[in-house]
Amino acid sequence: MIDFLRDHPEIHWLAINEETGLFELTLDNHMLSTFRNCPSHFMTAFVDGVQLRTGGRSWFLDFGILFHKMVEEYYTIFREPGFNTLDWATTRAPEEWKAAEMNFHSAHKEYKVIGGVIGFTTLIISYALKFSPDNERLRVIGTEIGFGKGREVLLGIVRGFLSCFLSGRIDVLVDDGTHITPLDHKTMNSFRSDPAGKYEVDEGPTGYIYAVGKILPSLVPPEMILKRRCDRILMNFISKTPTEKPEDRFRRLPIYKTTEQLSSYQERMLLTGEDIFRSLLSYVQTGHAQRNTGMCNSWFMRDCPYLPIHRQGSKRDELLIIDSMYSAKPIWDTEMVGKES
Ligand code: SF4
Repeated sequence: MIDFLRDHPEIHWLAINEETGLFELTLDNHMLSTFRNCPSHFMTAFVDGVQLRTGGRSWFLDFGILFHKMVEEYYTIFREPGFNTLDWATTRAPEEWKAAEMNFHSAHKEYKVIGGVIGFTTLIISYALKFSPDNERLRVIGTEIGFGKGREVLLGIVRGFLSCFLSGRIDVLVDDGTHITPLDHKTMNSFRSDPAGKYEVDEGPTGYIYAVGKILPSLVPPEMILKRRCDRILMNFISKTPTEKPEDRFRRLPIYKTTEQLSSYQERMLLTGEDIFRSLLSYVQTGHAQRNTGMCNSWFMRDCPYLPIHRQGSKRDELLIIDSMYSAKPIWDTEMVGKES
């Protein structure tokens, strides 16, 4: 494994610490959940760096990144003297839409539901009016708070050989007077059912609450930590489908986690971390990883992007398909999402 890592510096999420002799694994929620969904997908994406050359873009991912970028910018400047919501939204939303080349997705049904760039600009204006400086009772501590590369959030050490760290990026961290809490954003098609229901058991929000407890001493003075609780996340849900009243497109709901739930989360992530390390070892030695074929046709509501590879009858044909349809791209780095351009 050590030789393999030396020959593959692009695998930034696993390293050997020369001082301690421990392997150090640093993964975000996207990578952890990808592995649980299909180990083979994980290896192709995060070890080989193989991505579809064209057509592989996801509307859901691209829209989520774009929306997060706008919201992070909004909370950075919304209380600046002279800030004008309409000027900001009507300038910045079309600029970022164009920079993200969102018209690539013009055939997607949600693109039409949103209403393209004009509908997106309207959505951003509505968000800023709903969560205006006058309405927001939150003090913003920081935006785009990345963690991971500095080994800030230790999950634990597995069997004396593997240190596991969590990485991620908090959109907005706020203080509401009783809690210091991440403010996360989830865009969804509409609010047909309870929007918070799905996220109550999702590992992502739990990970953010866990991380805040670890990184807070580097962000705020100790006396403030003593006066605030850090056991919840605020989720801002955004309906992509327009509603009769513009303000009804947004809902803010808290999700709480007990100390026991956070401890259980930590143990589960360590299990996944160890599984990833052992699977990588097998992958390096044999070229094989387990496949969860139950996900092949339901990878985020569509076919898995690697299905054309795994349909082939031989390794030779797999390589021919990879050569013709895919290319090697930089491996996912959670702290760089939305910053590539
Ligand atoms: S096609 Fe199926 S088995 Fe292959 S990587 Fe995707 S989900 Fe896994």
